[in-house]
Amino acid sequence: MKNEIIAVYPGSFDPLTKGHLDIIEKASKIFPVVVVAVANNYSKQNTFSVTERLGMMKESIKIKNVKIDSFSGLLVDYLDNIGSFVVIRGLRALSDFEYEFQMALMNRTLNNKIETIFLMPDHKYTFLSSSMVREIASLGGNFKNFVPPAVYKTMKKKFK
Ligand code: ADP
Repeated sequence: MKNEIIAVYPGSFDPLTKGHLDIIEKASKIFPVVVVAVANNYSKQNTFSVTERLGMMKESIKIKNVKIDSFSGLLVDYLDNIGSFVVIRGLRALSDFEYEFQMALMNRTLNNKIETIFLMPDHKYTFLSSSMVREIASLGGNFKNFVPPAVYKTMKKKFK
């Protein structure tokens, strides 16, 4: 018997949306263990701190074989540390492809054992992104249907 495969779903999750959740659910049905990992060292200016993002995720993700974590530094090093070689990423549209393809190949170049698996969300989430949700929230629009309740609550406070 092979050791259980641990799949890592890395991202900014700034904040977690129902699109991310859909990918997490799908991945949890394929892999025995899924780790959703918040990246701590992005050059991106984030709206929510890692602690805030982890808090919202812990409240929103209640699937037995899904764990939540954060990491700093290179994803390939994090994978190595936790004994994983599988990266999950979501593909919404062709526009995601170029960046995702570049990253997958770079990770494979850094460590040739790494495989990136792309999952497509339900079509109703293909237009959904964290940045879009942040923009709607900051402009006072209704974003309730795009995020889990815990994220909605925290965002309402932040953009009051
Ligand atoms: P990153 O900064 O790493 O792109 P994101 O949190 O924006 O972090 O996205 C993490 C992953 O989830 C990416 O692979 C992205 O394409 C995917 N993703 C984001 N939103 C959705 C969605 N609505 N449906 C499916 N995948 C998504």
